[in-house]
Amino acid sequence: TEACLKAIDGAGALGAFVHHTPDLALDQARAADARIKAGDAPAMCGIPMGIKDLFCTRGVPSQAASRILQGFRPEYESTVTTQLFDAGAVMLGKLNMDEFAMGSSNETSCYGNAVNPWRRGNDETALTPGGSSGGSASAVAADLCLAATGTDTGGSIRQPAAFVGITGIKPTYGRCSRWGIVAFASSLDQAGPMAKDVRDAAIVLQAMCGHDPKDSTSADIPVPDFEAMLTGDIRGKTIGIPREYRMDGMPEEIEALWAKGREMMQDAGAKIVDISLPHTKYALPAYYVIAPAEASSNLARYDGVRYGHRARLSQGDGITEMYEKTRAEGFGAEVQRRVMVGTYVLSAGFYDAYYNRARKVRTLIKRDFEQAFADGVDAILTPATPSAAFGLGEMADADPVQMYLNDVFTVTVNLAGLPGISVPAGLDRQGLPLGLQLIGRPWEEGDLLNTAYALE
Ligand code: GLN
Repeated sequence: TEACLKAIDGAGALGAFVHHTPDLALDQARAADARIKAGDAPAMCGIPMGIKDLFCTRGVPSQAASRILQGFRPEYESTVTTQLFDAGAVMLGKLNMDEFAMGSSNETSCYGNAVNPWRRGNDETALTPGGSSGGSASAVAADLCLAATGTDTGGSIRQPAAFVGITGIKPTYGRCSRWGIVAFASSLDQAGPMAKDVRDAAIVLQAMCGHDPKDSTSADIPVPDFEAMLTGDIRGKTIGIPREYRMDGMPEEIEALWAKGREMMQDAGAKIVDISLPHTKYALPAYYVIAPAEASSNLARYDGVRYGHRARLSQGDGITEMYEKTRAEGFGAEVQRRVMVGTYVLSAGFYDAYYNRARKVRTLIKRDFEQAFADGVDAILTPATPSAAFGLGEMADADPVQMYLNDVFTVTVNLAGLPGISVPAGLDRQGLPLGLQLIGRPWEEGDLLNTAYALE
C-alpha cells in the first residue's frame, strides 16, 4: 500500500486518480496486516486497489466524474466495495472515468481525461486509455494499484483494458450487485475487475460477485472458485468465430491478431468453427437507443434538490429555471446529448419506432448467441476493439457516431447479458497493445476465464 501511494504521488500527470484516500488506505492496510497475523487472510487481504468513481464509497467523494455530483459524499457503501473491503482489499482512491460512464476515451470526465501510459514508438502524442473506465485502465497499467474496479455498459471494462494491455472481465448480467453503483443504463450495467492478468481478474471477481437482496436483478446463483478453474486445459472446447464481426475496412493488424488468437486456441487443443450471429449489425444502433433511453430516465434524479450541485438562481426564477440551469451547468455535452436522444426515443410519438424496435432487435441478438451455444459453441472469439488506442483530442471534431463505432465488438455482449473478457494479445506495428475478446455462456465465467488463460 505504501509503495502504491508513493507511485500515485509521482504519477499525477496520468490523471488516473481523482480522489486520494491515503489515510483510509493505511488504516485498511494495518487491519489487513492484523488479519494476516491472526491467520485469517483471504486472497484479497491487503491488496491495494483503485475504485472507479462510479461506485458510492462511504464518506468519500463519489461523483461519477460529473459536475452535477460535486460535493456528494454518500452515506453508504456500494455492495461491491463492501464485499471487497470485507475480503481485506485496500482502497487507494477513486479513479477517473467518462462522465456517468458515457464515452470511450475518458474525455467526457469533468476532471479532464486520464492518459494512457503507452506511446506510439518515439511519438510523444498522448493517447487515450479508453473509456469509460479509463482511470482504472491507466492506474493498473502504470502499476499504481494491483487491480481496479470497472463497470461495463457497452464495453467500458473491455475496451480500456485492451487499450492499455491488461485483462478485464464483464461478468454475466446479475453476477455483481449494482447496488450503490451510479446507474447509467440499468439493464446493461455490470461491474467487473480490471487486473494485470487472468488469475488476478479471477481472484478479484470472486470477491466482487454474489447475490445481493438489495439489487432485484442480482442472481441467486452459487459463485464457484474461479481461480481453481484455471487449469489452462481447453482441449475439446469449441470456439466460434462469428463471420459478421469481420467488418469492412477492418485494419489488417486486427485481422492478424484475430488469426493469431485462433491459432493459439487451436494449438491448445480447441476446435475452431465458423459461426453466424446474423443480427450483429443492428447491435450498435439498438444499443445507442436503449442505453440513452435508460440513461435519460436514471438521470432525471439529478434535479438540483437531492444531490450535489445546484445552480445560482436569479430573482424571479422558479423551479423550472432551477432544473434547467442546474442541469445545463451540471451535465457535460455528451451527457446532455444522451438525455436528449433518450427522451426523444421514449416520447409518445416515437416510442414504437425507436425504443420498442430496439428492444425487439435486442431479443434477436440474444437469440443469435443462444443458437450458437445450443449448436455446441463454448466460447466466441473476436477482436476487443476495431483499433489500438487513439490520440487524445483526435476525435474532438468528429461526428459523435465516430466515437460510438469503438463499441462495435463489445455492445452485443451487454445487450445479451453475457460474460465477456478482454485479454492482451500482442502489440501493433507502433508498439501499442491490442486485445482479444472471448464471449462465454451465461454464468460460466469460470470456463471463460480458463479459456482466456490459454491465450496468455
Ligand atoms: N462507450 C460506450 C458508451 O459510451 C460504453 C460505455 C460503458 O460501457 N459504460 O455508451
